[in-house]
Amino acid sequence: MTQGIAATLIPGDGIGPEISDAVVKILNAVKAPFEWDRQYGGLAGVEHGGEPMPQATLDSIRRTKLALKGPLTTPVGGGYRSVNVRLRETFGLYANLRPAKTLTPGGRYENIDIVLIRENLEGLYVAFEHFIQVGDDPEAVAISQGINTKAESRRIVRYAFEHALAHGRKKVTVVHKANVLKSLTGLILAAGREIAKEYEGRVAMDDRIVDACAMQLVMKPEQFDVIVTTNLFGDILSDLIAGLIGGLGMAPGANIGPDAAIFEAVHGSAPDIAGKGIANPIALLLAACLMLDHVAEKEKAAAIRKAIDLTLNADKIKTGDLGGTASTGDFSDAIVQRL
Ligand code: NAD
Repeated sequence: MTQGIAATLIPGDGIGPEISDAVVKILNAVKAPFEWDRQYGGLAGVEHGGEPMPQATLDSIRRTKLALKGPLTTPVGGGYRSVNVRLRETFGLYANLRPAKTLTPGGRYENIDIVLIRENLEGLYVAFEHFIQVGDDPEAVAISQGINTKAESRRIVRYAFEHALAHGRKKVTVVHKANVLKSLTGLILAAGREIAKEYEGRVAMDDRIVDACAMQLVMKPEQFDVIVTTNLFGDILSDLIAGLIGGLGMAPGANIGPDAAIFEAVHGSAPDIAGKGIANPIALLLAACLMLDHVAEKEKAAAIRKAIDLTLNADKIKTGDLGGTASTGDFSDAIVQRL
């Protein structure tokens, strides 16, 4: 009998519980080895324990080092920091992996296969912000400082090259704005040029300024393979890439650190459709596939990915966001049939 792997499950807010149920059902159908420790977070955390990121949830992740997380809503007001940012910081999850692959025709392009790797801890996301008073206006001037370090820039670039090598990818593109933010974003470009030398002949490297990259992603996305970039640029470009493959409902993400890994959908809690049973579970399901890859259960991940392909393209069963009529439950039942 295979040994179970303890993992934290945070169903999350809005559509989170609906898509988590669907994903757990599919994981059970492939006999995924996870032994779930269910915990609250976001609004559900406030409702059940008074905190958007309850201590019990943090303790659970500290113990399991592995989590599947539904979308979390950071309560507005109350001075709470983003729970997602807090999780990344608490567990040192420095690499945010966001693969975007065409699954079914109907997106803007047919053959997208890009992995974006975003630095997850630094840059403008450190949010050292304040206002300066001018005259009697206390918010006349806003100041924000970004912090990037050479050590972290090297670590994320190395992660990108290692990911490329491990997955048979050919090129890493370093995205920056070193023509203007010479210090803040020049570091990742310098790290790219330095580390690329170690991978010469195995993985190529080039670079793009972020604004040009945004245009080229829309005009000619097939020129990109692995992209590595700073926190804020990565946040923006990864949503752009999700748009290329047909929307947020199909974009998974992994937050990886040396001591823990948290897997999630890129999308939020979708309050507009929550409770209606119509959400697309693919993004969280693909996040669960990344989690299976992470624990070396690649065959189970491959089986789920194949079932998604057959359900969408052979059975033509799709949720509303992809132009279909299937409910979350119909769709996940169809996936189970195809396993
Ligand atoms: P959102 O991603 O929740 O929704 C944007 C649009 O996409 C909505 O129209 C929604 O219905 C649709 N959509 C999203 N996921 C879908 C799915 N699986 N199936 C079908 N349609 C889907 O973004 P938002 O509305 O800006 O944010 C809502 C809340 O989610 C906010 O509180 C935000 O802070 C939070 N959020 C959390 C995370 C996270 O936990 N990682 C990420 C982004 C936003």
